[in-house]
Amino acid sequence: MAAELKRVAIQEIEKHSQELNKVGEDIWKNPELGFEEIKAHDLLTNFLKKNGFNVEKSFLGIKTAFRATFGHDAKPNICVICEYDALPVIGHACGHNLIAETGIAAGLGIKAALEANGAPKGKVTVMGTPGEEGLGGKVKLIEKDAFKDIDIAMMVHPCPYNVLEPVFLANAKFKVTFHGKEAHAAAAPWEGINALDAAVLAYSSISVLRQQLKPTVRIHGIISEGGIKPNIIPAKTVMEYFVRALTREDVNELKPKVISCFEAAAKATGCTVDIDQPYPSYENMLYNEIVSNLYKTNSEQCGVKYVELTKPVASTDMGNVSHLIPAIHPVYQVGDGTQLNHTREFASVTNTPVAYQNTLIAAKALAMTAVDLYVTPKLVKQAKEEFSKKVAS
Ligand SMILES: [Zn+2]
Ligand SMILES: [Zn+2]
Repeated sequence: MAAELKRVAIQEIEKHSQELNKVGEDIWKNPELGFEEIKAHDLLTNFLKKNGFNVEKSFLGIKTAFRATFGHDAKPNICVICEYDALPVIGHACGHNLIAETGIAAGLGIKAALEANGAPKGKVTVMGTPGEEGLGGKVKLIEKDAFKDIDIAMMVHPCPYNVLEPVFLANAKFKVTFHGKEAHAAAAPWEGINALDAAVLAYSSISVLRQQLKPTVRIHGIISEGGIKPNIIPAKTVMEYFVRALTREDVNELKPKVISCFEAAAKATGCTVDIDQPYPSYENMLYNEIVSNLYKTNSEQCGVKYVELTKPVASTDMGNVSHLIPAIHPVYQVGDGTQLNHTREFASVTNTPVAYQNTLIAAKALAMTAVDLYVTPKLVKQAKEEFSKKVAS
């Protein structure tokens, strides 16, 4: 039964391959920033509507979020997730155009399997989650209860390698504003209070702090406002920092140390400082082994070979979903392994024939995994039991 339904799902994805790749390419050609992904939102929702999904645009009042479902109130409800935001200046350098494609491709395959003769009951949800790059679209969706009727959530992400359970860190994001006093930098610099000095001192202090931190910790920042002109003592500077560690507890332990660096820099320069966290924090990714192993078997059947990678790769708002319901977030290879996410080089390999080919392979493996879960409901039960144990520990 499962084998036949998997064949149906694969055939459906292959039948639409050109159209699916065109969606990935169109999103790549029109990079849009988080919560402004209007073209991508319309492209994806129109595609899903045309293919028989019940589509809710601007889901729960979030302009560029969407939900597309098939299967009424049947259970289990398996969710595949799309992302589609780009990075400023360097475009689709995280390959979210391909994540969008995997979501709709897997959705299409799963729907075909559910429609096949003798198929078990089940529901599929394709969730459009905007603003993953720092803005926390999934966190906003969670706050609005978007995942409340979903049993299992799955997504994949392009990467330089194939890794089943890459380490995604918990994080906290800071916006720090130093306030000083303007003065003519040549005529009366002693009248000024230099907010750029505060930013530079904070940057240096955090760089020194880093020596005493665990190798899995990541702290990195920029000066997003550094002054107006060299002949004006800067009265205001703004820094943005991400603090990441293996768990929420580790992040919470780090936060006061980093905050002390900002406060000390303000004190040393005579500035005042505002320390805010304007963006949602991301949780570390909690993998569900039951679902991960199904995905592994299915993707290996499609020819994927995995490598071990123990170093942290990034953070994702899928981490927050994984603390709510059983979830997976494997990464799959695009490029030759030398192009790394968040670079122009990676942006160039997220629009190649091989990338689109690997994207559809990942989509097939997602659809096959959903078929396993529909055909053997016991697996869903086991996945939930595993989840309950993990979040309780
Ligand atoms: Zn990214
Ligand atoms: Zn990404």
